[in-house]
Amino acid sequence: MNKEQARIAIIGAGWVGIGCARMLLEAGYKIDVFESNPDVGGVWHPQNHYSGLEIHSYAKNVEFFDFPLPGHVNKADRITAQQVFTYLCDYCKFHNLYNFITFNTQAERIDYNTNTNEYEVFFKKYTHVIYTHGFSSRSLPEVEGIKKFFGKAIHSFFANQALIQSLVEENKKVIIVGGSKTATDLILQFQKRGYQVPWLYRKNYWFINRDIMYKALEATSQNKKLRMFFTKLIYKISDKCGALHPEAAFYYMRALKLIHTFGKKHGDFKRFHNGALDGNQIKLLSHYNSKNHIPGQIQSFTENGVVLDNGTKLEADYVIFCTGSGPCSSLIDININGKKFAIEKVKSVYRSRVIPQLPGIIFTSFSPFATGVVNGLCYGNWIIKYIESAFGLEHLENESTIYDKPFFQRHLLFDSSDYIIRIGMQMLAPFFSSGELLGDEFEKWHIQNTFSTNAAKPLTFNKPEAKAKV
Ligand SMILES: Cc1cc2nc3c(=O)[nH]c(=O)nc-3n(C[C@H](O)[C@H](O)[C@H](O)COP(=O)(O)OP(=O)(O)OC[C@H]3O[C@@H](n4cnc5c(N)ncnc54)[C@H](O)[C@@H]3O)c2cc1C
Repeated sequence: MNKEQARIAIIGAGWVGIGCARMLLEAGYKIDVFESNPDVGGVWHPQNHYSGLEIHSYAKNVEFFDFPLPGHVNKADRITAQQVFTYLCDYCKFHNLYNFITFNTQAERIDYNTNTNEYEVFFKKYTHVIYTHGFSSRSLPEVEGIKKFFGKAIHSFFANQALIQSLVEENKKVIIVGGSKTATDLILQFQKRGYQVPWLYRKNYWFINRDIMYKALEATSQNKKLRMFFTKLIYKISDKCGALHPEAAFYYMRALKLIHTFGKKHGDFKRFHNGALDGNQIKLLSHYNSKNHIPGQIQSFTENGVVLDNGTKLEADYVIFCTGSGPCSSLIDININGKKFAIEKVKSVYRSRVIPQLPGIIFTSFSPFATGVVNGLCYGNWIIKYIESAFGLEHLENESTIYDKPFFQRHLLFDSSDYIIRIGMQMLAPFFSSGELLGDEFEKWHIQNTFSTNAAKPLTFNKPEAKAKV
């Protein structure tokens, strides 16, 4: 299909939606963007800022290559969610992206008509829909008795600065649930205010130790060869070895002190989701953890609190669930020729992005090409090649991966029953075997994107070769 024929709806204006919009407009495509929030930003929009949310990696991870971060920002530092949000808004102004976005508009449904090959969103017909719903939905686990609880059970995205301050001032009984990055951020917020709250989780997570990484990068900054040796070593251990032998990669990273945890050291390599903490945070959390950690998980709510799986009862006014925000919980309804399509049963997916029977819908939230804002730009580049290729059902089916469990029921990437790096690399593998990405070039690009302090340019993709099924 050529760009004159294509009409594209983008659902979501987080950094993936923005990146896709930017690349498609530059390539001359017609687009409309629909966003349910009153502004761009997704996770980084103020409505989704829990208190203390910052980017975990370098600030340059949120820098677009064609729009520098403000001069006062140290690109090797973390920046706050508010700074990320402001920067994303400025980027959209700079590229006139606002002209293409309709805000306060929640897309409820996509209707696919197989006769016309069109997808209807908000009464308009499109040849393609890019669905970038991301990670900003708020999903609470279903726990028995939650309705009879007199207090409040909330998702971490509601735990903003004002709420945390009022909980502390009013001396409320709060429980933080979960052990991953969000929980650590919120614990640090309470700790900063000298307020102790029980920290409930089953098993502590492992985090990248930013200080060790920075020190090594600083120490090698004057010596290009040494720096390249160091960055390649980290890449080979964490990504390459992690993809094949996750347990070994985990033990190497642990032995080199690249990863750390705030609680009892354990060997469960699946409790590593690529989150990052600095040395001081790890120290504070370890101290806090030794005093306030409660092992277990909530089995049920009572009127005044919770009962854990080991029978322990805890009183609470507020329970804050830092239990993630996977994309599976907010899937949109899809109809084919007026009949509801059972997306929750789909097992065969092309490139973790397209359901063969719905070739015009591209899902971006299940498998990133990269971390940071460059992910959206990479997506834009790949989608252009995908649209040009106009593959039919047979090719998409032949090239699909068949999953043992339905693809859209489990959030593959942040599922603690598997290893995030292994899954991430597995999802990239078809791009190498089809020739869309070249292994060596990707490796160079990935190292640059991860370790350099300059913003990376987006990946470019080759047209995939159509292959016969073997
Ligand atoms: C707490 C947290 C911290 C994170 N920290 C980092 C980090 O430090 N570095 C990093 O690289 N990644 C981080 N991530 C991952 C992060 O989510 C992504 O990198 C990035 O924000 C994803 O962008 P996105 O555009 O795909 O999704 P989102 O940012 O979630 O944006 C999706 C947008 O789609 C909109 N939307 C959804 N459904 C509809 C609908 N039906 N109709 C209209 N609009 C809709 C939403 O309102 C939202 O604005 C973090 C994630 C979370 C949750």
